[in-house]
Order: sequence, then C-alpha cells, then structure tokens
Amino acid sequence: VEHPAKATNRETREHNERLVLATVYDSGPVSRADVARLTGLTRTTVSDVVEGLLASSLCEEIGHGPSTGGKAPILVEIPSEARLLVGVDLGDQVFTAAIVNLRGAILQRVDAPSESTNGEGALRLAIDVMERALSLAGAPVLGVGIGAPGLVDASAGTVIQAVTRDWRMLPLGPIVADHFGLPVYVANDCQAAVLAEHVFGATRGPNLITVKAGQGIGAGLVINGETFPGDGYGAGEIGHTIVDPGGRMCRCARRGCLETVASMPAILVELSDRLGHPISQEEALRQFRLGEPDAHEVVLEAGRQLGAALGGLVGALHVRRFVLAGTMAAFGEPWLEAVAAAAADRALGALAADTTFELGRIDDVVVLGASALLMTRELGLSLHPFGSPRPPRTPVAVAVAGAAAASTPGLAARLGAAP
Ligand SMILES: [Zn+2]
Repeated sequence: VEHPAKATNRETREHNERLVLATVYDSGPVSRADVARLTGLTRTTVSDVVEGLLASSLCEEIGHGPSTGGKAPILVEIPSEARLLVGVDLGDQVFTAAIVNLRGAILQRVDAPSESTNGEGALRLAIDVMERALSLAGAPVLGVGIGAPGLVDASAGTVIQAVTRDWRMLPLGPIVADHFGLPVYVANDCQAAVLAEHVFGATRGPNLITVKAGQGIGAGLVINGETFPGDGYGAGEIGHTIVDPGGRMCRCARRGCLETVASMPAILVELSDRLGHPISQEEALRQFRLGEPDAHEVVLEAGRQLGAALGGLVGALHVRRFVLAGTMAAFGEPWLEAVAAAAADRALGALAADTTFELGRIDDVVVLGASALLMTRELGLSLHPFGSPRPPRTPVAVAVAGAAAASTPGLAARLGAAP
C-alpha cells in the first residue's frame, strides 16, 4: 500500500506541470523567474517544465519583458488557441457542438434540432454534430466535454438515465472517446451550467446554485469550489418533486411535478388552455413582453411555483447566490422577481435576506460548462476570461467531485508534440 503522503516522482512532475501551466495561464505573459516566485518552485524545475510545455506548443515565448537591471527576461504565455475544446450541449430542443478556445470563446458551432429523436438515433445525431464541429477546428483539439440530460455518472461518463432520450446506462463518454480517439468528459447539463457560472460568472464565491428552467427543471450545485453530484449523481434533480398532487400529468408518468407547473412546456399548456389554441414559445414571450394579462399571470405564477420550491434549498444549504438560466430566464426581471419573492416567503427571514437571485448572463452556458470541465480535467486549468477576478493560484481551482483520480503520465508526455 502506497503511503498517501509520499508522492511518486510522476505525481510530483504532474503536480508541478499543472501548477506552472495554471500560473502561466493566469499571469502570462510572465517570465520563468516570476513563475518560480509565484509557485514557490525552483527556477530549474520551472525551466524544465516550461521546456516541456514549449515542446508541446502549449506555451509560447513572446519576446522580452522589461529589464530589472540585468538581461531582459523572456516572457511566456499560453496562446488561447494552443489547443481547442469541443463543448457539447445535448439539449432537449437542439444539440450543439462548438469549438471553444482556451479562454472560453466560441469559434465555431454546429446546431441540430433534436426534439424528435431518441435512443440510437439521438446518439447518432450527437456524434454527427460533434463530427461536423471537429471538422471545423483549425488547431489541435484537446478533447470533448459533453453536457447531457438526466442522471450522469461523471466518473465513468455514463448516462444512467435520461427519460427524454430513452437512454439507460448509456456509456456515452467511452463511445464518443472510441469514435474520435480523444479524451471525453460527460456531466449532467445542470452541473455543466453551474460550472460555467462558477468559472465565467462575474463574481466567484465558494458556493453557487444554478437553476436551469426550460423544457425541464434542474439545479446544479457548486459547494466549496467543487461541483456537488450527491451520493448517486442526482443532486439538484428538483424537477420531479411533486408540488401539486393530482395536478397535470408529467413526462415521468406521475402527476403534479414541479416541471408541470413551472417549466416552459407547463406555461405553454396553461396558456393554450386559456386561449383555446396552441401557442409557441416565441408567441408566449411576445405576449408577455406586450403585457398581455393571461401571459403575465401564467408566467408569474410559474415563477412563484419555482421560487416556492427553491425556498426549501435556501434553508437546506444556505448558499447565498442563485443564478437562474434556461429558456424561462427569457421572461426576465418580472419572472425573476416572482421567483425571488416566493423563495423569500418560504425561507427563514434571516436566510432569505442573505440570498440573492440573479439571471444568468452567459449564453451557451452548457457548452461553456462542458468545455470548462474538459479543460479543468485535462490541464488542471480553470477557464476564465481575461480581466476577470483571478482564482487563487492553487493547482486545481475547480474539480468535479466523483471523477476518478488521474493516474496518467506527465502532461507534456500525454499531450505529445503538437501535430
Ligand atoms: Zn415528473
């Protein structure tokens, strides 16, 4: 049995590589001497690691910095397109695969309508959008990150169950990894969304809850800087908690789930009933913005129902920041206020006063979260745009709990020389 405190040489090398890479990523352009100062590693170690990163083209020398008396130091940085990421959102209505750079910018995207496909067909469509996106990548691709619906075992890359796709125990990660010969990471779409908000959001605290309300309703949790999957990957599955026994039939075959009163399909059904004809999402949004009374009443009631459910989370976890995403967020501030007010009504006053609800500001939240997952896992980096508050310079800023510990050769060895 290995003594846990006694790191092997390989572990030490990998740790040092991740530390140097994260420091150059956060602080670049930066000199080797400054990297040594920031990491506490020796200059020899830093030089060795940087040589490996230069050889794999993950790092680049970009000229000389100002001299502080002696020879002007050479500065190194990580080019934002040194590697590209494939971020995938297997959404209820659209499958999206995007080529994303190391700073979280979407360079190319492929979308395909996905509403009417399930089982094998849905899997084929997913692989097809990834294939089309990959064909657009103009630089080496690091791997694929996927945000998938349903219960997902992130350590194995298995979709345990996704009702909308009729997927059960689908080894999605291994299938995609075999197909493309690339590393693949899979997370539940709400977990991906919360990771994107945590990494790209305006403020970064240790804890965060993102609630995605659209075709379905689910929450993703970051607790102490790590996504929290729960004991069986079901943390945040709030959409099928019954709030109206005897209410409308749910797609899970029970009655009165939160999704039947607070999701986009729920408000479209309710509005259609009131108006006597079917209504589209776009039309509902238009009517809401015009202040049409039925649309207003139905949407705000949906917001109150969601808020009432979130009130329970406020008390259970005392997480100060809730970010609301998904298509329902398009109803904007009035809907948000209905959610927040209902949550405050249900929670202990002191806790409610200490909790903020805000609308997500990130487009393509699942695509970017899946990219962040891939990048964090493969490089030990956390994505954040230039100019945002920098995370502490510890080796791995965000880890997805439950993922298997990597026992792989050093980063530079694994990445190999750039093609
Ligand atoms: Zn249900």
